Amino acid sequence: MNLAELKEILTQPQKIVITTHHKPDGDALGSSLGLYHYLKQQQHEVTVITPTDYPYFLQWMPGNDNVIIYTEKKERSAELVQEADLIFCLDFNSLSRINDLGELVKSSEAKKIMIDHHLDPENFDDFRLWDTTASSAAQLVYEFIHELLGDKRSITAEVATCLYTGIMTDTGSFRFPTTTSNVHRISADLIDLGADNATIHQLVYDHASENRLRFLGYCLSSKLEILPGYNTALITVTREEMHRFNVVTGDTEGIVNYALSINDIRLAAFIIERKDKVKISLRSSGTFPANEICKDHFHGGGHRNAAGGQSEDTLQQVVHQFKTLLPEYKNLLTQ
Ligand code: 5GP
Ligand code: MN
Repeated sequence: MNLAELKEILTQPQKIVITTHHKPDGDALGSSLGLYHYLKQQQHEVTVITPTDYPYFLQWMPGNDNVIIYTEKKERSAELVQEADLIFCLDFNSLSRINDLGELVKSSEAKKIMIDHHLDPENFDDFRLWDTTASSAAQLVYEFIHELLGDKRSITAEVATCLYTGIMTDTGSFRFPTTTSNVHRISADLIDLGADNATIHQLVYDHASENRLRFLGYCLSSKLEILPGYNTALITVTREEMHRFNVVTGDTEGIVNYALSINDIRLAAFIIERKDKVKISLRSSGTFPANEICKDHFHGGGHRNAAGGQSEDTLQQVVHQFKTLLPEYKNLLTQ
């Protein structure tokens, strides 16, 4: 399907599903809801389906109440995916990132549109707006509406609010190297179009529970391990500790960045024991390829400076595996 065909399809009301990766972050949800508001306004029947739940600090976003969480409404989700004319896949490019929804999306006859900024896309889409240099999927949704569809005037305050949130969160509040002058221009545009930037920052970043702060304090004072020979910092958390601090979805978000903020640390890892697997989050500075470690050793991937993966092994085994692969990267970490 080329752009002209997609544009032609969008001239008539369509049944549209928008989906994004599991445990959606600000960009996943922001890009999805931004596109949702835009397409709804164009008279389409639109539903956002997320594979799992997402953090409390994203639940204020306009349109949040209409999001369907797959794990809570499996039958309805399956029906919507089955009946859809178009499925937009935002902020992911591998069907394994949407868990069981992957099979449903694959078998649906809907045309699939991928809007994404991760490396190594799988071939499940019919149309793709894919740019690994983009700061966020939300930036790409802005470009999709503005440049591909030529419809900037339809960016309402709701669309702008959601897209601004996506760009803000995926650039670490406009500080990662992906934050080009163009990203600032787009963000400025979104403010002009109605995104209330100060309020959005507050809603996302000043929304923590007391538990989250105590848990963060515990991670930093008791669980942080520095591996000076490798300029690496590591935080590991067991299930028992998660229970003890009553950790909920979103509470662990961003903790890994504190480990990376230490002087000379080039690689930071956050390894956490979840119900059915161990999840690893990596952050790096400079050219260190965190995504390679995740791809080669932990069934994952991501971006060069922010990547993740998982393992079926025990927490101890994963930590051991992580530490034993560091010598392989010693040069990159220390030179
Ligand atoms: P986080 O550490 O916040 O979970 O993820 C950081 C980045 O790594 C995400 O933006 C995503 O691109 C990527 N990522 C995290 N987990 C996975 C995974 O299991 N598979 C892949 N392919 N990418 C992941
Ligand atoms: Mn993203």
